[in-house]
Amino acid sequence: MSGTAAAVPLTFAGAERAAIAAGLTRAEAQYLLQALLGVSRAWLIAHDTDALETAVEDRFHHWLGRRLDGMPLAYLTGEKEFFGLTLRVTPDTLIPRPDTEVLVEWALERLDGPRAPRVVDLGTGTGAIALAIKSRRPDADVRMVDASPGALAVALDNASRLNLPVDGHLGSWYEALAGQVPFDLIVSNPPYVAGDDHHLDALKHEPRMALTPEGDGLADLRHLIDGAPHWLRPDGWLLLEHGWDQADAVTALLRERGFADIDTRRDLGGQPRATGGRWPA
Ligand code: GLN
Repeated sequence: MSGTAAAVPLTFAGAERAAIAAGLTRAEAQYLLQALLGVSRAWLIAHDTDALETAVEDRFHHWLGRRLDGMPLAYLTGEKEFFGLTLRVTPDTLIPRPDTEVLVEWALERLDGPRAPRVVDLGTGTGAIALAIKSRRPDADVRMVDASPGALAVALDNASRLNLPVDGHLGSWYEALAGQVPFDLIVSNPPYVAGDDHHLDALKHEPRMALTPEGDGLADLRHLIDGAPHWLRPDGWLLLEHGWDQADAVTALLRERGFADIDTRRDLGGQPRATGGRWPA
């Protein structure tokens, strides 16, 4: 006997059970195995009595350990689904949230009028918002801006993998747009979590600069609203994601700045999640 070497081989069904016993949901356990092997759910079910190869089993235990340590699944698998697109994600980028799809839907409605609209996504991260818009509006001239070189590289990589021709600009918010002409739509999911929000503890694996501007969480939203009129065509729209309790503050900032038709949209959980307005002609 040579210790653990003689252990019963771990089957796919066994691995799934072990992951669930360790605290993952069934869906997470299945997704982890699928991603580990690059196979479909149907394949996994059909092969549930097959044994994992040693190298795969080692990686399974490694991933499971990281996951139980709080590492988001998306960073382990390196991908996340958003608006029907499979995006590569790395610890340089925020993991796209389903709630942000509300912002994309709204953006697409606002783009119903203009042909070949000019669109910019400020603080694009993985490129999620920009690429979702481009996937539905191939005629749009879409720009992605991020101040993080690592994030912008991921966004550009996603654009080329998905075969969606968009341009990337490195820099902080509007500074990155020097030399550009105004846009029909500015969209952003900026950092908006307050610096002392305890939720940040649970989000420790994501880049802090993508989550919080520190302070009350409004600094970047304020900056985006202040600068927008200079970068919007007449009747262009500014649409912003924000925290569940920031809709009133964002509405007030937009009104003070002179925006019209200010409105708020709710996310899938029913929370006010995005607010925006039109820059009057
Ligand atoms: N919605 C994210 C969260 O609460 C935060 C995203 C952001 O700061 N832009 O986890």
